[in-house]
Amino acid sequence: MDIASLPVTTLKGVGPKLADKLKRLGLQTVQDVLFHLPLRYQDRTRLLRMGSLRPGMEAAVEGEIELADVVYRGRRSLICRVSDGSGHLHLRFFYFNAIQQQNLARGRRLRLFGEVRFGPVGLEMIHPEYEFIDGAQAPPAEENLTPVYPTTTGVHQLSLRKLARQALEKHLDKIHEWLPPAVLQELQLPTLTEALALVHQPPPHTPVELLAEGKHPAVLRLSFEELLAHHLSLRRLRERVQTEQAPPVAGTGELMQRLLAQLPFQLTQAQQRVLGEILHDLQQSHPMQRLVQGDVGSGKTIVAACAGLGVIEGGLQVAVMAPTELLADQHLRNFSGWLEPLGLTVVGLSGKLNGRARQDALEKIGSGRADIIVGTQALFQEEVEFADLGLIVVDEQHRFGVHQRLALREKGRVGLRRPHQLIMTATPIPRTLAQSLYADLDVSVIDELPPGRKPIETVALPSARRADVVSRIRDACTAGRQAYWVCPLIEESETLELETATDTAQALREALPDLSIALIHGRMKPLEKEKIMAAFKRGEVHLLVATTVIEVGVDVPNASLMVIENAERLGLSQLHQLRGRVGRGAAESHCVLLYQPPLSEMARARLAALRETSDGFEIARRDLEMRGPGEMLGTRQAGMPQFHIADLLRDRAWLPRVQQVAELLLKEHPQCVDPIVRRWISGAETYGSV
Ligand code: ADP
Ligand code: MG
Repeated sequence: MDIASLPVTTLKGVGPKLADKLKRLGLQTVQDVLFHLPLRYQDRTRLLRMGSLRPGMEAAVEGEIELADVVYRGRRSLICRVSDGSGHLHLRFFYFNAIQQQNLARGRRLRLFGEVRFGPVGLEMIHPEYEFIDGAQAPPAEENLTPVYPTTTGVHQLSLRKLARQALEKHLDKIHEWLPPAVLQELQLPTLTEALALVHQPPPHTPVELLAEGKHPAVLRLSFEELLAHHLSLRRLRERVQTEQAPPVAGTGELMQRLLAQLPFQLTQAQQRVLGEILHDLQQSHPMQRLVQGDVGSGKTIVAACAGLGVIEGGLQVAVMAPTELLADQHLRNFSGWLEPLGLTVVGLSGKLNGRARQDALEKIGSGRADIIVGTQALFQEEVEFADLGLIVVDEQHRFGVHQRLALREKGRVGLRRPHQLIMTATPIPRTLAQSLYADLDVSVIDELPPGRKPIETVALPSARRADVVSRIRDACTAGRQAYWVCPLIEESETLELETATDTAQALREALPDLSIALIHGRMKPLEKEKIMAAFKRGEVHLLVATTVIEVGVDVPNASLMVIENAERLGLSQLHQLRGRVGRGAAESHCVLLYQPPLSEMARARLAALRETSDGFEIARRDLEMRGPGEMLGTRQAGMPQFHIADLLRDRAWLPRVQQVAELLLKEHPQCVDPIVRRWISGAETYGSV
């Protein structure tokens, strides 16, 4: 039987109760037990001399009890003094019963293992593991280093150790090697069986730091195969998509020419290049799956609009999905402004729409009268029926994972045909990482900002300088410009965030009585928010105080000053996104990062990075260095793969190799692909078969 489906209960000593607890550790099969790696190791292979012990060491020693006594200093405890001729050690037990007390008597010989610490009367061990060795022959020392596994309440370390040993002894030979020997040789990695044996039972003198840091070839071997499995599963998905049908889009390009002629600007080189890539994809007869990465303000929206026009010319519909209502509203305004003059019908659909208006929208969508439909996730609710969807545009993709991408496509499916999909993100990530995480997608990059953008001058100020900031706002707004003041989440509580924002708005109104100041936050009704945004856009509001609701996508070119409070609490990418709300017009823009001293090392580095660069790719690179991809992209939301062993940040240098080997397997050893994917990725996550 395949070890990946062999339940843990086949191991001796595992009944339903223990199986239940093991499940909490994610251990359901024998293979899971083997893939559950030790956190660290203990060395019981050598007995140390007591004279050589130092505080902080974990050590195995042997000695004879010279003195045993129950003392009542502070707390009742049993203290034994043990000596081996080279030195001595005190053992301290706070919990002991009469029998233990009787056994731990003068003259008995013990083998001990524990952590050495500095006690009141010299070196001691608290509650060491012990074993009597007098009389009979002393058992041999351990042959291998002892693993210490991550565990959970109710699962004893010793039982995990026994289970792992049992799994190795009885089932290791069932682990099939799927990587060709030539690949292993080239990468200088051991076989999977060798790797597993080593990580669970390292021989003495194995460099355990390397194991713990995941840099030992044995761990690398495991991480490598896991990364490979994820990559292969995405690649397989991509190949499947290429066998699917999509409506090839062969418009004349006339609508697009008319739109471009209307615009007050020309597309940048980068926009044109990316648009070209998209248009090429749209002409294929399989669905496009393209990700466009472009910094905040790089002009992704107009590229999406141009792409959509070709699809509409071909008689199909375009759906544009935004992550928030605010952003959906803004897109709706933009698209209406651009496309209605061309005679097209633009329809908005979000959660807030109800009654007649909603019926009306649904009818237009269903009858095909709507050419382009803009909304939130509400677009993909059940009662929404598209007449003939040709393209789905997903904005700010970092909030969606592979599964959502797939579900969207299925929703827009007509017969055997799936719509094309264009995904846009303002959280650029380095190329190799993108190629791994988004291996099911083609990636385009808008690596140029529209001309004339002035870099945003960024300063970090301690909160004590608030008064200076307030007068900067007065100056900017008196000169006819506008400003944002962002109060981010401080506690994990929306209520508190709101309170802070409300208080801040009040204080600012008092300090700046001549300015028109508005407050916008997540608890407001969509219509209210929309009203305030519209007033801000028209310039009737000078200063907009906001919770982090404005994070994504708001575009008001006249706003040139951004103040972010408690900036030390926000992540680098988030700060960059917020800052990107300004610097969209012709005026010199500023961003003030207000912080609460003292700054942690990490916060200092983040604020410095923002002052030093405004390049989103560079920011993303640094963010990645500081936090790792999981946190940077928001693990759960992004549908980031959950790895057992691999770590994208730690193992990123291997990613290009992973891609090469994936290529090789797909071409020359296709029979290995499925077993590798299945070994590492459980059923529900196997993208290829969604
Ligand atoms: P993002 O990539 O962050 O979504 P947007 O699409 O919102 O950026 O564009 C930001 C602003 O830049 C918008 O006001 C848009 O009209 C404008 N814009 C887009 N492309 C150009 C260009 N080539 N030249 C000048 N302005 C542009
Ligand atoms: Mg955008």
